[in-house]
Amino acid sequence: MTATTYDVINPSTEQVVSTVPLADLRQTDEAVERAARAFPAWRDLAPADRARLLRRFADAVDAAGEELAQLEVVNSGHTLGNARWEAGNVRDVLEYYAAAPERLFGRQIPVAGGVDLTFREPLGVVGVIVPWNFPMPIAGWGFAPALAAGNTVVLKPAELTPLTAIRIGELALEAGLPEGVLTVLPGKGSVVGERFVTHPLVRKVCFTGSTEVGKRIMAGCAAQVKRVTLELGGKNANVVFADADLERAAATAPYAVFDNAGQDCCARSRILVERTAFDRFLELLEPAVLGVTVGDPGHPDTEMGPLISAAQRERVSAYVPPDAPVAFRGSSPAGAGFWFPPTVLTPADGSSPAWTEEVFGPVVSVLPFEDEADAVRLANDTEYGLAGSIWTRDVGRAMRVARALECGNLSVNSHSSVRYSTPFGGFKQSGFGRELGPDALESFTEVKNVFLATNS
Ligand code: NAD
Repeated sequence: MTATTYDVINPSTEQVVSTVPLADLRQTDEAVERAARAFPAWRDLAPADRARLLRRFADAVDAAGEELAQLEVVNSGHTLGNARWEAGNVRDVLEYYAAAPERLFGRQIPVAGGVDLTFREPLGVVGVIVPWNFPMPIAGWGFAPALAAGNTVVLKPAELTPLTAIRIGELALEAGLPEGVLTVLPGKGSVVGERFVTHPLVRKVCFTGSTEVGKRIMAGCAAQVKRVTLELGGKNANVVFADADLERAAATAPYAVFDNAGQDCCARSRILVERTAFDRFLELLEPAVLGVTVGDPGHPDTEMGPLISAAQRERVSAYVPPDAPVAFRGSSPAGAGFWFPPTVLTPADGSSPAWTEEVFGPVVSVLPFEDEADAVRLANDTEYGLAGSIWTRDVGRAMRVARALECGNLSVNSHSSVRYSTPFGGFKQSGFGRELGPDALESFTEVKNVFLATNS
C-alpha cells in the first residue's frame, strides 16, 4: 500500500516535527481541474488588480517572515540567517513580479496593409515541482512570475520539505488570491509530480531538481509538446588567478560551497587555483574553513547546519572514503542530527568523483592550473553549466574568462549567483530556460501575433 502521510523530520535533532498528508492521484487531478477553472477569471482580471493582489500576497509573506524562517530551520536545518533571507526572497520576488501584469508589453511591427501586434498570452495551468534544498525561494521563482503572467499554479514541494510551501499556500488565500489560483500539493514525485507531466490541463512544467529526474520530465513532456523549464544540477568552478586578492578569495571560498551545507546547485565545489598561488591559497583557506561555525541552525551565529537526511549524509560520505586526499576539515557536532564537517580535498588530478560529480554536501576539491587556457579547459570539463566565480584583478581577463566559461551565472571577485532582478539558469545539462529577472516572464507566456487589415 502507498503511504498517505509523510513524517517530516528535523534534520538537526532527527525528531518528527509534523505529519503531512500526501496528495494521491485523484486529489491531484481535482486540484489541476480547480486550477483550470480558476484560470479564465485570473487571466482576465484587470492588470492593476492582479498586481494589487500579488503585492498583498507579498505583504502577507513579509508579515509571516519570521514564522516561515523558523519553519524552515526546523524542517530543513537551514541556518536562521539563511531562512530569514529565503522568506524575504519570496516577498521580494512577489513584489518584483507584481509590477509585471501592467508591463507585459507586446510589440507593434511595421507591415503592409494593416497593423501587426504581438500579445503575451498566459499558458493556463503551470505545474511547479520544487526540490528540498531551497524550498521557499525555488517555489517563489516558479509561482510569482507564473501568476503575474496570468497563469494559475499547482505546486508540489519536495517530500522532505513541505512545511513552508503549505504555509505560503495559506498566505496566498489570506491575501485574497482566489481559490484555485495557487494550490500547494504535498506529495510524491512519482505520483503528484508525474501527474503534472501527464495531465493534459497542465500546460507547462517548471522543474527544479536533479538532472536525472529532469531528463525524465523532459521526455514525458514531449508526449504533449508540453512547455518545460529545467533548473538542474551544477558542478561549479571557483577560478582563482595568482593576481587576485588571495586573502579575500580564500576567506570567501568556504561560504561559496559550504553555505546550506553544500546543498546548493550553485555551490563552488571545484576550486581552481593558478599554480604559482596554489600553496599560498591553501595556507589562507585552512583557517577560513576551520572558522566556519557549524551547529544548531536555530542559533543566530551558526553558519552551517546539518544535511537534510540520513540518506543524504550517506551519499556525501561516499565522496570522502578513508583514503580520500583530505587536506583539512572543519568541525561538526556529535550526536543526533545529520552532520557532516566542511571538508577540503586536494586530489592528484581531475578524475575523482568528488571532482566530477555534484556532491551536494560540504565537500570541496582544490586543483592547480597552469594558465588562462588551462583554467577555462578545466572549468568547462563537465556536463554541467550553472554557475562559477572568477577571481582576478585583471579586468580584461575577467571578461575574457567570463565569456569563455560555459555556464549561465558568473560572478567576478564575488560569489553571488542569484538576484531576483537578473536571469538565472543553466547551460548544458544544468537545464534550460531562465528564471527570475525580466526573462522568466517569457517562459510563462506564449507570443501571439495578430494582423489587423486596415485596407477597406
Ligand atoms: P529530485 O530530482 O530528486 O527531486 C526534485 C523534485 O522532483 C521533488 O519535488 C521530487 O518529489 C520530484 N520528483 C521526483 N521524481 C519525480 C518524477 N518522476 N516526476 C516528477 N517529479 C518528480 O531532486 P532533489 O534531490 O530534491 O534536489 C536536489 C537536486 O536539485 C540537485 O541535483 C540540485 O543541483 C538540483 N537543484 C537545482 C537548482 C537549479 O536552479 N539549477 C536549484 C536547486 C536544486
